[in-house]
Amino acid sequence: MRFAIQSKGDETSNQIQEQIKRYLTGFELVYDEEEPDIVISVGGDGTLLYAFQRYVHRLDETAFVGVHTGHLGFYADWTPEEVEKLVIHIAKTPFHIVDYPLLEVTVRFNDDKKEKRYLALNECTVKSMEGSLVMDVVIKGETFETFRGDGLCISTPSGSTAYNKALSGAIIHPSLPSIQLAEMASINNRVFRTVGSPLILPQHHTCMLRPVNDVNFDVTIDHLFLVHKDVKSIQCRVAHEKVRFARFRPFPFWKRVKESFISD
Ligand code: NAD
Repeated sequence: MRFAIQSKGDETSNQIQEQIKRYLTGFELVYDEEEPDIVISVGGDGTLLYAFQRYVHRLDETAFVGVHTGHLGFYADWTPEEVEKLVIHIAKTPFHIVDYPLLEVTVRFNDDKKEKRYLALNECTVKSMEGSLVMDVVIKGETFETFRGDGLCISTPSGSTAYNKALSGAIIHPSLPSIQLAEMASINNRVFRTVGSPLILPQHHTCMLRPVNDVNFDVTIDHLFLVHKDVKSIQCRVAHEKVRFARFRPFPFWKRVKESFISD
């Protein structure tokens, strides 16, 4: 089996990276950064997001597992103290895969140049850089509302505990192939109106955002900032692809939610 390790880059994470590499090569696994069967991320959720985007072109062949060197992460749920146990699991046991839905984002342009397609593990956000963002929100081909405000966040179920949660979005179990649209400070008065509640869309329901005014806006995919000009539309839907996590022990989603946000 081939493996790669993505480190956050700090001293502790780098040391653990070296330790895991030594152990796994000792078990005769092959270190291969180009075509790994399993990617071990060492750091935090941000490191796993980075690893995901790095190997996004080969999701069918790559499984992910995360070690956290800071606080418990949603994707990074193994502690540094458990590394030996994890390594033995990876080397000796066929791993169980759980797959989670992803968000597909297609950006199209006014000048009809080639569209760009992205996959997000957590979310896509669209935020104004100056003044209010004004976007038509089109759901399944029908204009639903014109949004005015700071921005919009479209998240995956596993990303629902990240930025989406800070916007009072619902936490969605990752077994539900869906995306969630949450507002950032919408303007609501007698003139302007949005629904005000987060919307959860099932698979095959597309949410299209079409800029109405001329303000510059930022588009993010997970931790990445996209630089695009002349955007005609941003189309979001549940992706065909899924992300695969290697599971060596049960760690139910609701337990992770509880341990992250309420108590151990
Ligand atoms: P970062 O260093 O600012 O970390 C953001 C925090 O989000 C970390 O504590 C991380 O553990 C947590 N996080 C990431 N994914 C999560 C998930 N699926 N569930 C629960 N918590 C999660 O930024 P980063 O490490 O580059 O991560 C980028 C992510 O940060 C974005 O995808 C976005 O979800 C999140 N973010 C959140 C807010 C907010 O809550 N107001 C604002 C900006 C970005």
